[in-house]
Amino acid sequence: MAQSTASQNVLDRAAQGGRISPEEALDLYRSAPLHALGQAADAARRLRYAGTEHIATYIIERNINYTNACVTACKFCAFYAAPKSEDVWTRDLDDILRRCAETVELGGTQIMFQGGHHPDYGVEYYERHFAAIKEAFPQLVIHSLGASEVEHMARISGVTAEEAIRRIHAAGLDSFAGAGAELLPARPRRAIAPLKESGERWIEIMETAHRLGVESTSTMLMGTGETNAERIEHLRMIRDAQDRTGGFRAFIPYTYQPENNHLKGRTQATLFEYLRLIAVARLFLDNVAHIQGSWLTTGKEVGQLSLHYGADDLGSVMLEENVVSSAGAKHRSDRLELLHLIRTAGRVPAQRSTTYEHLVVHEDPALDPVDDRVVSHLSSTAIEGGSAHPELKVVPAR
Ligand code: SF4
Repeated sequence: MAQSTASQNVLDRAAQGGRISPEEALDLYRSAPLHALGQAADAARRLRYAGTEHIATYIIERNINYTNACVTACKFCAFYAAPKSEDVWTRDLDDILRRCAETVELGGTQIMFQGGHHPDYGVEYYERHFAAIKEAFPQLVIHSLGASEVEHMARISGVTAEEAIRRIHAAGLDSFAGAGAELLPARPRRAIAPLKESGERWIEIMETAHRLGVESTSTMLMGTGETNAERIEHLRMIRDAQDRTGGFRAFIPYTYQPENNHLKGRTQATLFEYLRLIAVARLFLDNVAHIQGSWLTTGKEVGQLSLHYGADDLGSVMLEENVVSSAGAKHRSDRLELLHLIRTAGRVPAQRSTTYEHLVVHEDPALDPVDDRVVSHLSSTAIEGGSAHPELKVVPAR
């Protein structure tokens, strides 16, 4: 791609922290040479984190899936089962608490409570579970759910979204994971998630949460057939909301996985498109602090590369993940490998909290933590060596 003077001027402005328009972002996304785009995004990252720009962060967390029953039937989803299907399962509170115990035992600091839109789960269900988790494990941060779940639970309970947020926050929810954003513009959203709330409503509910003091991350699902312009429009909707509330801590794009869902993998984002989006997100979202590279869906080497295209965080050692892995994401890792990936990408790894404080900066490899149970698992019911529930079946980690 040839690089015009105008495009270089836009890159230079964005690299210095200046604001660029959606039209300029789209032009960069389509046409800027890949390395120039990465260089500008990396400069913007270094400027934002001057003094700690040598660090890249990760977190230890566990996804806890409480049910796969879902009435929303998104076309890209390989996780859900129709509520009357024989494939439906739910997890009881004891099982959920055992998984929390294991998370604490392995040094995890955060749980993502994640599941389908169950036809009977209203606000009361989440209040009961969050309160029980917080009572047993006050040290665990509940970073979970998003606008879609809020809309659904409020409808079931006959309350407003605002009341639903107030109540689950009071019960123990610390922050929203920003789930369900998928693609916010109307056309691609209707195509892949026709029964979900509109993108405008997703933004409205997240803004309500932010105003109530419940911050969140924001996400984007790439590669289901959306246009480049629709990708940038998704970013614009997030940036505009962020201008109003400041409540998004991070932006986390990830790629559609093609197995076991109705879209059948007809389209997929390429790794180049993914890296370009990471870079443009860093440049365009001048009001969002953290950009996360997703090695889980794109692979470890792409995760490493993302650290040179504007990302400052490499997500998590996910002690358990069942949603994107159901759709074909096969990449697994462990803490030592994640530290190695970050180091060999030229950064110093640091374990972070949900709010991005550095908990441990791993300056010296000789002092790396060596608990080899801190590994990503698929569909696990117990972690090998975990003492929290020795009676449960262990599913191999890789
Ligand atoms: S993505 Fe969520 S809301 Fe959509 S079908 Fe899957 S579980 Fe249900």
